[in-house]
Amino acid sequence: MGKLYIKFAVLLTVVIAALLVIFVISNNKPVTGKEIVKENDKEIGIDLTGQPLFGLADAPITIVEFGDFKCPTCKYWGETIYPKLVEDFISTGNVKFSYINVLFHGPESLASAMAAESVYQHSPDVYWSFHKALYDAQPKDEGQWITIDKLLELAKEFPSIDQEQLKQDIEQEVTKDKVRIDEDLVSKHNITVTPTIIINDIIMVDPFDYEAIKEVIDQKQEDKINE
Ligand code: CA
Repeated sequence: MGKLYIKFAVLLTVVIAALLVIFVISNNKPVTGKEIVKENDKEIGIDLTGQPLFGLADAPITIVEFGDFKCPTCKYWGETIYPKLVEDFISTGNVKFSYINVLFHGPESLASAMAAESVYQHSPDVYWSFHKALYDAQPKDEGQWITIDKLLELAKEFPSIDQEQLKQDIEQEVTKDKVRIDEDLVSKHNITVTPTIIINDIIMVDPFDYEAIKEVIDQKQEDKINE
């Protein structure tokens, strides 16, 4: 009888725990800056060697986006939050921005990432414009749209991009090793969603909560002043 009672108590605990999890998931409200995940106490340590940077190289705060040119939410983030960051923090020299490719959408993610890496290698002056052109070209429906022809067509807008070089880099996967570096960062930092936005050592739970982003940047600026 005693054993049965213990079994029942264990079962009840499991059921209550499961109900709690369901309750928490169903109450997943937008988070504020106070609910952000803190990876560790220091810099998150993302190795940005060879990665594109936008803004002043000596800007004290670094924001990294893990994104995918095939990801509609990344496009939306780039159109809504990113311009605010540029205006409020990047243009003032307080924040620099970097972008790491994520390949969650298969071959099209890979092709666009290889194209972007090629442009960054050979025509770094137009990298961010090409990056924006890729997101601008993303259609509303989520069907296939990234082909080598489409990538070359987008690149035609930029006279400094060598079309032949770009074609070769994508077709022969010349820049795949650069994309692999990004993939390794995705694994190393346990990136599971796009866009993932990281401000120094802080991973934003909701990358669309601009107030929370500002709060973190302000806090980081204060920390730098007090260092
Ligand atoms: Ca990269």
